[in-house]
Amino acid sequence: MIVAKPKPLSFLAEQLRPYRKIAVVGCETCMAVCLAGGEKETRRLSQALELERRVKGGASLLAIPLTVKRQCEYEYLELLGETLKEVEAAVSLGCGVGVQYLVTAFPELWVIPGLDTLLVGGPTALGVWEEYCRLCGECLLHLTGGVCPLTRCAKGLLNGPCGGASEGRCEVNPEVPCAWLLIYDRLRRFGKEDLLRHIAPPKNWRLAQGRGPRRLVKEEVRE
Ligand code: SF4
Ligand code: SF4
Repeated sequence: MIVAKPKPLSFLAEQLRPYRKIAVVGCETCMAVCLAGGEKETRRLSQALELERRVKGGASLLAIPLTVKRQCEYEYLELLGETLKEVEAAVSLGCGVGVQYLVTAFPELWVIPGLDTLLVGGPTALGVWEEYCRLCGECLLHLTGGVCPLTRCAKGLLNGPCGGASEGRCEVNPEVPCAWLLIYDRLRRFGKEDLLRHIAPPKNWRLAQGRGPRRLVKEEVRE
C-alpha cells in the first residue's frame, strides 16, 4: 500500500483562502488504511477547514466531504462529477497518484494536495507504517529471503552486510534491525546460505527511473 501523512491545516487553509465552496475528496483504499484520507479523515478535515475560516474571519467556507473507493481509477471519480461541478476547488486526500487522476478527470477544477505521499509499505504496529519497497523495477527478493536490502538496509547494500551492525541493529539507524542479518537468518532457516556467495552485479537503476513516467503495458488486455 501507499502511505501518506497530512499536510498542515495552516497550509491548506492558506491555499484555500480565495475560495468559498470547496470539496475535500478522500480515498477509501490505501489512504483509509494509513488513516490519512479515509471517510473519517475527510469529514474531519472538512470541518476543521470550515472552523478555521470562521475563527480567522472573512468569507465563510463550505467544505463538502466526498470519498471514493479509489482515487486512482477514473470509474470511481466519475461518480463525483455532479458535486465537483459546483465547487471552486478541491483538496485531494488521495496519494500523489490520486491528486493527478483528479486533475485529469476534472481539468477545470483547481486541486490542492492534502497529503504528503511518503512510501510504499504497510503497518507494522498500531500507528506505525514502514517502507518495504522502493519500486526498483527488478525484484530480487528471491535472492535475499524475501527481505529487501534496497529498502531495509540503510545503505541499500546489494552485497552485505557492511560489518557495522551492533547487537543485530543497523549502525546507521539503531532503531531498525540490520537488514542483512534478517536476510542471513532467513536464508539459514531455509538452508540457502549459499545464496550469500552470489555477488550481485550493479543494479540497473534505469528500471527504477523512466525518461518521464515509467509504464507497464499488457498487450493481451490493451484496447
Ligand atoms: S528488490 Fe526492488 S521491487 Fe523488490 S522489494 Fe526491493 S525495491 Fe521492491
Ligand atoms: S548495519 Fe546492516 S542494515 Fe545497517 S547499513 Fe550495515 S548492512 Fe545495512
